[in-house]
Amino acid sequence: MNSMTQLQPVTIYKDQFGREKRKLRISVTDRCNFKCVYCMPEHPEWMKKHNLLSFEALYSFCEFMVQRGIEQIRITGGEPLMRQGVVHFIEQLQPLKKNGLKRISMTTNGHYLKQYAKVLKQAGLDDLNISLDSLDEAQFFQLTQKQLKSVLEGIDAAKNAGFSIKINAVLMKGVNDQQIIPLTYWAQQQCFELRFIEFMPLDGDQNWTKDSVVTEQEILTTLKTVFEVNILHGQGASPARSYEVNGLPIGIISTISNSFCGSCDRLRLNAQGEFFNCLFAKKGLDLGKDIRSLKSTLSKNENPLDVLNMQNKLGSYIWHKEQGFHTITATSNSNTRKISMHMIGG
Ligand code: SAM
Ligand code: SF4
Repeated sequence: MNSMTQLQPVTIYKDQFGREKRKLRISVTDRCNFKCVYCMPEHPEWMKKHNLLSFEALYSFCEFMVQRGIEQIRITGGEPLMRQGVVHFIEQLQPLKKNGLKRISMTTNGHYLKQYAKVLKQAGLDDLNISLDSLDEAQFFQLTQKQLKSVLEGIDAAKNAGFSIKINAVLMKGVNDQQIIPLTYWAQQQCFELRFIEFMPLDGDQNWTKDSVVTEQEILTTLKTVFEVNILHGQGASPARSYEVNGLPIGIISTISNSFCGSCDRLRLNAQGEFFNCLFAKKGLDLGKDIRSLKSTLSKNENPLDVLNMQNKLGSYIWHKEQGFHTITATSNSNTRKISMHMIGG
């Protein structure tokens, strides 16, 4: 394959419902320095370091996927800034922007941004989603086992580095739902887009219950006690429904009460090479071996058979992506995989 043929996607992956896949989320580690109650199990069993895909292998996979229509790559985890070499990896990905990649983003808990924001910007990272579920120090600690201060400093550093920032807040009933108004005031003051996320059954210890979800409707009702709220149309493939609150955008990711799956264009790879066509997929596709043997076209050692084999394997798995969260959970049984958000990446 020469560099001219790379400019047009070889094929664009689609599922059985005709949804083209344009976004890829790559989890670079399952490790995290936080212990968010809605995510991390009490006793996590970390992936073995020798099982993690190298950044070289991840680069080859990203190149392969960009050639097949991926336009946005999000680096996530665990906590992506805990994996050494991640900044260099973002730098390495930049040439793919000539092949059709439009954005490289990261989702982070913000703790290490004070240290990394500037270099991430220099490396070419386009934007950041930062998680922040409470502005109350004691509550923040209760939720994450870490200090709020480091995250607020990280957010400041990211702002100063010139990043476009979205804030993600997971709400749990009776825990931090009283933060809806303070977080909204704060985000408006800072000019950040805030996104409230309904608590999903992806917590490591599987304590999730439907009653602990603060629904989109409940969030809107609370917002309307203080703000003027209008719906913005044109959600497209975004997981969040957009609202205008006092003239500024707010998103709500309502997987449980009002799932966003209809036009889902996302795919996911975990840190050891398991590929998922959906966050809630009953089964992943183990691509670890295939990805390790995939050689970057830059190395000129690409084996056409390896490439074809992976292309077909992936194509078939992606094609069978189910309609969405509600169809998957309606047919699930006890044999389905235990999903934990820190292992797959949000
Ligand atoms: N550690 C980084 C962070 O927290 O931003 C990146 C990985 S984290 C798994 C990605 C996103 O998933 C975060 O915004 C987090 O709030 C969200 N998340 C984790 N567990 C969740 C759950 N059970 N329900 C909804 N969102 C969840
Ligand atoms: Fe870590 Fe992010 Fe999970 Fe919190 S949500 S435990 S920061 S991976």
